[in-house]
Amino acid sequence: MPAIKQVDVIHVALPTRREHKWTGLTEPIGGYILVRMHSDDGVVGWGEAPALKDWGGDYGRYFGESPGTTKFVVENYLTPSVIGCEVGNIADLHQRMDAIVKGYPYAKAAMDIAAYDLAGRTVGVPVWQLLGGKVRDRIPVTHSIGLLDIDLAVEECKKVADEGIKTIKIKVGVDPDRDVEIVSRVRRAVGDAMDICVDANCGYATPRDAVRIIRKMEPFRLKYAEQPVEGIDRLAEVTRVLETPVMADESAWYARDVLEIFEKKAADIVSIYTTKPGGLYGAMEVAAAARAAKFLCNVNGSVETGVGNLANIHLAAAAIPATLSCVVPVSTPAESQSGNVGGIYYIDDLIAEPFVLEDGCVVVPDGPGFGIDVDEAKIEKYLDTSLQ
Ligand SMILES: [Mg+2]
Repeated sequence: MPAIKQVDVIHVALPTRREHKWTGLTEPIGGYILVRMHSDDGVVGWGEAPALKDWGGDYGRYFGESPGTTKFVVENYLTPSVIGCEVGNIADLHQRMDAIVKGYPYAKAAMDIAAYDLAGRTVGVPVWQLLGGKVRDRIPVTHSIGLLDIDLAVEECKKVADEGIKTIKIKVGVDPDRDVEIVSRVRRAVGDAMDICVDANCGYATPRDAVRIIRKMEPFRLKYAEQPVEGIDRLAEVTRVLETPVMADESAWYARDVLEIFEKKAADIVSIYTTKPGGLYGAMEVAAAARAAKFLCNVNGSVETGVGNLANIHLAAAAIPATLSCVVPVSTPAESQSGNVGGIYYIDDLIAEPFVLEDGCVVVPDGPGFGIDVDEAKIEKYLDTSLQ
């Protein structure tokens, strides 16, 4: 097998269709780091770190990464450590990265994702096959409604329902009265068939507050309530008394977090990211722990560009317990956008072909690597040179 020869770090800023915010977010989405990994036989793989300095684990135990810290860590530590690593030896890649610097899962995820793409393209198989195979060909898409004016949110929900989207997630966690009102108005607008979830991003001050507020939403049928409060012990207090299933997101980064959530009966559902556990390799460990614990799962993310989102789609195809609708974009370059908004958060994208959406589901690509090429002209177009 060839070896990893070179890694390029690229900072992009992809323009959004509409401002997309959640509790705790302080910067626009889409300002992310890409890595382009080359092997010594000339094959290239791509990865992404949707680095957000204000996104982290409970009580800061997994801290935020910014584009600047990710770029520094990849260029100065991770890249030198993986040069010469055999293509496809993902275990060795992680051992090298973990030995040179502790933490920085988002920087490591970008490397891991690129390494899987590179391996798949080298041997001519899709990444889902490298992950052990796929259990689904289509990934149901949850459309995420950010912290948005309620009238605008209701209009958007009606539109995505008409487009065939079957699950909507509403960001809450700032103002309890607003949170209950938006859920009631969206339910009235979209009818009974739509699944509706809420995500507070740790926004409720206490477990008691969370229970009181979510109970007021329950008449409008919630599929689940995501991370209402910060902390596994506090999440357990909410889970113990609520009828509505509770999802752990900020509390669930690595497989060992899933074990703790299981021991403390802190949630019913775990959200799996490609990035929180440092890439697809760790994400499959999270999926294995969740499967052993009989948790329900989805694949969730940070509104990645098409580059990182391809990794989400392959993960969702391969991870057996990821049976729930996934909060993944429908990555679509400007040339292919039709005015639909379901799963579309950016006005353009960095991939050469759009994701295929059928009946509210993204079709899993079957080509080598992640199955869709990166459009290097778009990378040039959206280059952010502020860190250089
Ligand atoms: Mg969340």
